[in-house]
Amino acid sequence: MSIEKTLAESVSFEGVGLHSGEATGCEVGPAPPGTGIVFEVGGPAPTRIPARAQYVSSTRNATTLARGGAAVATVEHLLAALSGLGVDNARVVMAGPELPILDGSARPFVEAILAVGLEAEGRPRRWRKLLREICVEDGDRRIRLLPADALSIHYVADFPHPCVGRQSIRFDTFSPALFAAEVAPARTFGFAHEIEALQAAGLGRGGSLENTVVFDAEGVRNPGGLRFPDEVVRHKVLDLVGDLALLGAPLCARIEVLKGGHALHRAAVDALLGDPDACPFESAV
Ligand code: ZN
Repeated sequence: MSIEKTLAESVSFEGVGLHSGEATGCEVGPAPPGTGIVFEVGGPAPTRIPARAQYVSSTRNATTLARGGAAVATVEHLLAALSGLGVDNARVVMAGPELPILDGSARPFVEAILAVGLEAEGRPRRWRKLLREICVEDGDRRIRLLPADALSIHYVADFPHPCVGRQSIRFDTFSPALFAAEVAPARTFGFAHEIEALQAAGLGRGGSLENTVVFDAEGVRNPGGLRFPDEVVRHKVLDLVGDLALLGAPLCARIEVLKGGHALHRAAVDALLGDPDACPFESAV
């Protein structure tokens, strides 16, 4: 039987927010069974914002959660790390309005969490098992979810840049070890002309070659190059895992994505939650 897990100890992270450019940090620690992932934002009487789809206030360039007057931005990479490693319950105490971007991937979160280890909490884990096909389309973008006995992901990204082009990756059995090795290290990326436009709009102020892979007319601007030849599509999978964490329980389905992004991932989560008979909770055996 699969049992709910939390972190064995708290871990802290400090850095800059990708969009605000401001110094920020958070402490991620254990939480009781049944808690889920909950952000605590602001002072001595913090607002608790569960990492659930109904609290999403924006998916423009990053995922922001809000409740009352409080908000927490760029949650997707930490959520990917927690979900990818099979952490069911955690308390995230925020020291700023945005998660630190760190190196632009989920690797620093994953390494720190694995270093303290996970603890089983003695309560059977709940899953969401997909019972019928769900498909969301937006022009030539598509996400299709099919019933399956385990989580598998096939993702296709397509960007008209000579260093990217069409990248396809398939993970037939998605596990914490696979996530940590093959997905978590893939960094946020952007194209030089888009980054300039983003910064002109007041976003991406914390972006640098330390935390973003930048493609320009010459190729890859980062001195160290890429971590994987197909780092772009792997980062798309990372974002998908983080966005699906907003379902509030691990999903058991075969997922096929063509040219996805946060908005399409979010639309799929809304479609799943809007059709509870298609994706009920069930305890795993
Ligand atoms: Zn991302």
